[in-house]
Amino acid sequence: MSVVLVSCGAGIDSGTEEALTAARALAAAAGLPLAWAIVGVPEDAAAALAACHGVARLDVLADTRLADAGPDLLVAALAGYCRQRQPGVVLFNQTAVTRLVAPRLAGRLGAAVVTNAFALRFADGALEVTATAFGGDTHVIYRLTTATRVVCLTTTTLTAEPAASAGPVVRETVAVDLDGVVERFRVTSAPRTEGPRLEDAEIIVSGGRGFGSAANYELVRQLAGALGGLWGGSRAIVDDGWIDSSRQVGLTGKITRPRLYIAAGISGASQHMAGCAAARTIVAINKDQDAAIFRYARYGIVGDCLEVMPELIKAARS
Ligand SMILES: Cc1cc2nc3c(=O)[nH]c(=O)nc-3n(C[C@H](O)[C@H](O)[C@H](O)COP(=O)(O)OP(=O)(O)OC[C@H]3O[C@@H](n4cnc5c(N)ncnc54)[C@H](O)[C@@H]3O)c2cc1C
Repeated sequence: MSVVLVSCGAGIDSGTEEALTAARALAAAAGLPLAWAIVGVPEDAAAALAACHGVARLDVLADTRLADAGPDLLVAALAGYCRQRQPGVVLFNQTAVTRLVAPRLAGRLGAAVVTNAFALRFADGALEVTATAFGGDTHVIYRLTTATRVVCLTTTTLTAEPAASAGPVVRETVAVDLDGVVERFRVTSAPRTEGPRLEDAEIIVSGGRGFGSAANYELVRQLAGALGGLWGGSRAIVDDGWIDSSRQVGLTGKITRPRLYIAAGISGASQHMAGCAAARTIVAINKDQDAAIFRYARYGIVGDCLEVMPELIKAARS
């Protein structure tokens, strides 16, 4: 039995190191070897990371059709891989892609599956997984007793730490049989992705419904520009059409980890915080001193964002 982290995609997703750290801790506590299975991920970059994180074996799933695979091919490839390796725990760093793949893989394997997980440990022969539920408001502990368990980790509250000591990483190429697998998903349009990504931003200024109108939201863009950061917002203003969904921060939007997150006119709903709670410093501006956002903020300004923001823009520009 082993613990395996699975990564799929053209690059190394943010949160991968956090997931590797959690996978290593779980494997070490149970005395199990840690493997990392990659599909499409650049092999040399993964090997370097594997060496820092105490991965015993790097499994490279090899098939030309996996270079840019959709969910059908990924599920088939990973099911074949798991049948060969029989891991006890299959972990994913939760992304839009792995959220699609993990439950289907679990279905193929007859395995239990948990998504939105943020803590896991073995207890009394079961894998105990703590996850958020009901849009982030509730924490649930699941006890998984199937031979294989599939878990999607949300990594915003996890920290990445390299292993104190690490041995050599064995690289293995694993052949998978994709004969007869037909990809039924076709991407007909994708969100605009030009420019830097919110997920990678060091500074984010986000606005919420407290701005009152799309025109007032311009203040958010101006402050972000003055600070050399990116602008984002809550789902409420995406729904109202003020900004594009690619700018939404939160559970159903972008998961960010900036150094500085300024949240103006945002209430601090748990679903929003799921996308920014990992920020090193949160500054909140809200006219309601009891707003939930102040529970997360290091610095808080109780005031009208339409008055405070112009002052901040002036200060940032000078
Ligand atoms: C399954 C699910 C998933 C969700 N996913 C997300 C998600 O990914 N991201 C997300 O953001 N939300 C998400 N939501 C919605 C979330 O629950 C909240 O409804 C949303 O975040 C609220 O947005 P808001 O804070 O901008 O608006 P509001 O809740 O309306 O809050 C506005 C805030 O602005 C303050 N305010 C008003 N006027 C001013 C002023 N002039 N100056 C300063 N402050 C002012 C108010 O005091 C208030 O705190 C999700 C909900 C569900 C159920």
